[in-house]
Amino acid sequence: MKQTKLWINGIWESTNETSKLTAPYTGELLANVAKASAGDVERAIEGAHQAFKSFKNTTAYERAEILYKVVEIMRERKNELAEILADEAAKPISAGLTELDRTIATYQFAAEAAKQSTGETIPMDAAPGVKDRIGYTKRVPLGVVSAITPFNFPFNLVAHKLGPAFAVGNTVVLKPASQTPLSALAMAEIFKEAGLPDGALQIVTGSGGELSETLVTHPLVKKVTFTGSGAVGLKIKEKVGLRKITLELGSNAALIVEPSTPLEKIMKRCVGGAFGFAGQVCISLQRIYVHSSIYEAFTKAFVEETKKLVVGDPHNEKTDVSAMIHPDEVSRIKEWIEQAKQQGATVATGAEFTERTCSPTVMTNVKSDMKIVCQETFAPIVSIVPYDTLDEAIALVNESELALNAGIYTNVLTDAMKAAEEIEAGAVIINDIPTFRVDNMPYGGVKMSGYGKEGIKYAVEEMTDLKFITMKLNYE
Ligand code: NAP
Repeated sequence: MKQTKLWINGIWESTNETSKLTAPYTGELLANVAKASAGDVERAIEGAHQAFKSFKNTTAYERAEILYKVVEIMRERKNELAEILADEAAKPISAGLTELDRTIATYQFAAEAAKQSTGETIPMDAAPGVKDRIGYTKRVPLGVVSAITPFNFPFNLVAHKLGPAFAVGNTVVLKPASQTPLSALAMAEIFKEAGLPDGALQIVTGSGGELSETLVTHPLVKKVTFTGSGAVGLKIKEKVGLRKITLELGSNAALIVEPSTPLEKIMKRCVGGAFGFAGQVCISLQRIYVHSSIYEAFTKAFVEETKKLVVGDPHNEKTDVSAMIHPDEVSRIKEWIEQAKQQGATVATGAEFTERTCSPTVMTNVKSDMKIVCQETFAPIVSIVPYDTLDEAIALVNESELALNAGIYTNVLTDAMKAAEEIEAGAVIINDIPTFRVDNMPYGGVKMSGYGKEGIKYAVEEMTDLKFITMKLNYE
């Protein structure tokens, strides 16, 4: 049986306590995972602080070289890393390979960002009475970053923390989700091989709830970056005090489909957006608002396309949808669907369960206050709702307190721009599903979906301080 260890100061360390990691699809035991104590986390933070003293003085060239090397190693090991995702997250192999391609791109963007950190010169003599002074800004690293990550993109969301942090010379204590430690621990080896100095990356595994206090409030932690659920994000925000913080939280992403849309061209993409990784994606397509003139045709085609999806073993290349992350999640979603049915909703297809899986489910006749609509389902469930006017559709999108990405399909330019202006969301995606994301775009929710932005360039800003320097050119 595999026994994992903590990665502290470049050494693998055993712990007295461990927890069992099981595969979501088979329930089979994958590993005994080291359970860090608060003391272990303290040592990791102190080690990261020591490492920062020299890492902050490395050159941009040296840091970029480390990140480029990570890219090279990950390209070579891609297939093997995708198997880890299939084991510990039940991510279908095809989706795992896509995640790895994106992770590689994320580290590449980070390598490039390392060389692009610039400041500006300030026209000091524009202020009354000031002359013979120069002034400029530069971005400086913060120190130790505490990074807490979720289970659903165990490589790429870790990359969105480590990439920008290392690009600018910060050091990191990473606490991955308890269900996906193996992918994070694989990154320890990869960074070591790439030449990252010992101590710059510390990885502590164990319960987020138990380790949170130390991770979030230790005096040497200068920044907390968290991706996960809103409930946990709020708890963290209450504790951080004056530290910098980024919160990437959940949503119930919406799409508007206007009458001008060629349905046959978008159907596969919409179904993919709703059911990719069993809907366990923060921008998974959950609410589809379709103009009433095309509602019947859209729903029929969507249901037909959904029925083509293969539910099964994540290691099988043909599988589209595999297990949910935990059997408790299947029970929760079963309950939410039952509740919606009792309130008048209809199952157009799906809602078939095993202990570990939920089949791709399409709901109609839903109401805005049903849990499956107004809360984040984080499951393979989508609701299709008719509307009559674009104003009505935008109002329905904006009803939600969750707001990461939203999408609209229309070929009417003025309608597209109206939606872009009026939809309250972190991003409005025109002529594509809200599930669209590439890793250099600014990304982050508004309302209850987040605080701050990721996307390498934007994360770099959030992981640095803006320092101002001025010099008087004479002694007069
Ligand atoms: P989660 O339960 O909130 O867990 C996320 C991380 O927080 C895990 O490492 C977890 O550790 C840790 N944690 C749990 N309780 C904590 C506490 N009290 N203090 C500090 N950390 C704590 O989320 P999840 O189920 O893994 O992921 C799903 C959620 O993430 C969804 O809501 C999804 O929308 C969101 N998400 C957002 C984005 C985005 O970019 N906006 C991207 C992906 C996912 P344990 O695993 O040990 O509990």
